[in-house]
Amino acid sequence: MQGLMMDMPLLVSGILQHAARHHGDTEIVSRRTEGDIHRYTYADCERRARRLADALTREGVSIGDRVATLAWNGYRHLELYYAVGGMGAVIHTINPRLHPEQIAWIVNHAGDVHLAFDTTFLPIVEAIAPHCPNVRSWIAMVDEERQPASDKVANLVNYERLLAGGAEGYRWPEIDERSAVGLCYTSGTTGNPKGAMYTHRSTVLHAYASALPDAMGASSRDCILPVVPMFHVNAWGLPYSCPLVGAKLVLPGAQLDGKSLYELFEAEGVTYSAGVPTVWLGLLQYVGQAGLKFSTFSRTVIGGSACPPAMIRAFQEQYGVEVIHAWGMTEMSPLGTLCRLQNKHLKLPPEAQQRLLEKQGHVIFGVDLKIVDDDDRELPWDGKTFGNLLARGPWVLREYFRGEGGDPLKYDADGRGWFPTGDVATIDADGYMQITDRSKDVIKSGGEWISTIDLENLAMAHPAVANAAVIGVPHPKWDERPLLVVVRKAQAEATREELLAFYEGKVAKWWIPDDVRFVDAIPLGATGKILKTKLREQFRDYRLPGA
Ligand code: ADP
Repeated sequence: MQGLMMDMPLLVSGILQHAARHHGDTEIVSRRTEGDIHRYTYADCERRARRLADALTREGVSIGDRVATLAWNGYRHLELYYAVGGMGAVIHTINPRLHPEQIAWIVNHAGDVHLAFDTTFLPIVEAIAPHCPNVRSWIAMVDEERQPASDKVANLVNYERLLAGGAEGYRWPEIDERSAVGLCYTSGTTGNPKGAMYTHRSTVLHAYASALPDAMGASSRDCILPVVPMFHVNAWGLPYSCPLVGAKLVLPGAQLDGKSLYELFEAEGVTYSAGVPTVWLGLLQYVGQAGLKFSTFSRTVIGGSACPPAMIRAFQEQYGVEVIHAWGMTEMSPLGTLCRLQNKHLKLPPEAQQRLLEKQGHVIFGVDLKIVDDDDRELPWDGKTFGNLLARGPWVLREYFRGEGGDPLKYDADGRGWFPTGDVATIDADGYMQITDRSKDVIKSGGEWISTIDLENLAMAHPAVANAAVIGVPHPKWDERPLLVVVRKAQAEATREELLAFYEGKVAKWWIPDDVRFVDAIPLGATGKILKTKLREQFRDYRLPGA
């Protein structure tokens, strides 16, 4: 027997329509590449998104077509999310920090028919345009009077002029909720990038779930500033979950240094933010040196790579900011787990609570996890045994775009598919997951695993350490041994011996790195994560003392 409720498709256009109708005067504030601060409301945004959708339809964009962006977090980017997705086409956000050759490859693989860009990225557009024959127009997201000229790019269009040609009477189509709405490529640290193609349904469910109190806990009382870029897995869904709850949205544009962020936090009354650990290093350093405090900022989601416990403590103890450690990946829209205390944890002593909060956390309803050994046998949830982490759920990838890489799933005895995350993790009896490492980064020493994340977290707790990374280097007896690579804080002194001694009593003796190397900077990838492949290459000729 079928239930008798309305069959209303879950569509992203519904999210913005809701925001416009029920939070119509709530503000969206953007720092523009033009240099000024732009403000308007959800009602304005929805109106302009409709005009843009109509304009794109007139340009011949149809259902399923891919429209790409190379853009910072800003209101025009948000309009593109909804205009393109809402009309039934696919918004393909590209990471501008990738190499132009890789960007051109992605544009061609995706089959993008238009590409909208912030003028900061004109040099990239000029470099790739001759290699992207399918792109019919290159849309500069800037006021008409600032429209750039380029003799290298044919069909350079102005965003505002394009939008002005669209009619406000456009009506959002009611399409199948399983239609594609968004496309993000993985960073491709190993092999070519692969595309994760989100559906309207997966995106709306992810937006609902991520806003729950034990997840991001976003509400209409919040003022949310996503530092995480809209080209990094859709800014972790915030462009969808903020209008869904009616939160004020602050989009920081290109200026992501500590000072610019702090000023925006204070000027706009930001309560809530989200970003990878490396961006917070800059902010904390700025606020620390200038002796500042936050007046409204009270919570932040940190994820994308392991958040060092020292950072969680600094936020909490020095600034009263709650850190919500989160884990996810492009293939998971991206959210899988977030770390918040449950009722039963409230009685724990502060140290035990702190240890729990350092984990990557608990799944949100919708995602299921398990850990398995190399023969795919399920492992116990005891918080100690670690294994390969598998995930399933309605916003987890089933297959890559264009079937790249074949069927990625692993099937259980009941025939249910699980996505292998490539992470190694433990899960405790309460279901809290902790990432040990990426399987390609974990160090195998004498057949036993050493977690590089644990060693990095400990190094980051040393007062002289600004940033730290641990990689495995060849060893004649143990196969691989850990090497600690450190960036020291300005004017801080710490010797190799001091840093190695710092590990004593904190980890098993055989986990302590064999050596320390000091560098000026650690290579970061396009999403601000430590690029271990590059670091390993950098130390390719390095030999351990005595090895
Ligand atoms: P890529 O970095 O390859 O572009 P993603 O941004 O999707 O891809 O990264 C997903 C990966 O990032 C996860 O599989 C995991 O290894 C790592 N990651 C994400 N969040 C965390 C976290 N909180 N702690 C440790 N690792 C994390």
